[in-house]
Amino acid sequence: MSDRQRELEQLAQALESNPDYVSGRRAFPRTVTPDDGADLALLLQRQVDRGTAARAEAASQGGLHLACTRGCNTCCEELIMVHAPEAQVVARWLLQPENRQILADFRTRYPAWRARVGDLPARVEAAAALGDQAALERIFSYQPEARNLCALNAGGDCTVYPVRPLVCRNGHALDDPSKCGLYDPVGQGRREALAFVPLDQFMARSGLLLRAAHQAIVGQRAPRRPLCELVWEMTAPG
Ligand code: SF4
Repeated sequence: MSDRQRELEQLAQALESNPDYVSGRRAFPRTVTPDDGADLALLLQRQVDRGTAARAEAASQGGLHLACTRGCNTCCEELIMVHAPEAQVVARWLLQPENRQILADFRTRYPAWRARVGDLPARVEAAAALGDQAALERIFSYQPEARNLCALNAGGDCTVYPVRPLVCRNGHALDDPSKCGLYDPVGQGRREALAFVPLDQFMARSGLLLRAAHQAIVGQRAPRRPLCELVWEMTAPG
């Protein structure tokens, strides 16, 4: 394990040491930089990739078929809400000289994406803060504006694939990808996912950890924001 990795593991333990750091009721007593948050998110991404590979293997051994394939990007039409560290990973990657054109193309697509998304992020975050799963389900099942192709997607491909957020890595559908795109209330149901306890628990832990890092960087009780919106701000010229 490298010194940096050890440092990040220690930071993760400290952020998890008090639930108040996650809830935002108490300020984290150390400085956490945007780069610390981004490096922590990268560490979690690598672990989630190992978990999704293990889940795919378990599915295959159980005779189950994961429907996701390259080119199917229906789940990229859902609003991706993230904590700041995950957006920082993407922004940092886009700001590398070799990714200049990808960044320019994203900044061209973004205004149309933002116009379409309206006040959806605020409504999603309000429902999530209340733990109102029924409201979230209503938003994502019935409201057309909840389906808006991510501005980081070009021609069906994720342009930031190596650094995409955890939720994009973990998302999957069993057997019938046609249900991933539903927003009309015809009762056909949502996509089915495969419960895989080790990964599901790791995702839950990662969510709390990223939230604590987010609070430490951005400020106490700062809400999650749309990935595209944060990346737009973080990559603004000057
Ligand atoms: S970041 Fe990439 S994988 Fe995630 S929603 Fe956007 S285009 Fe899709």
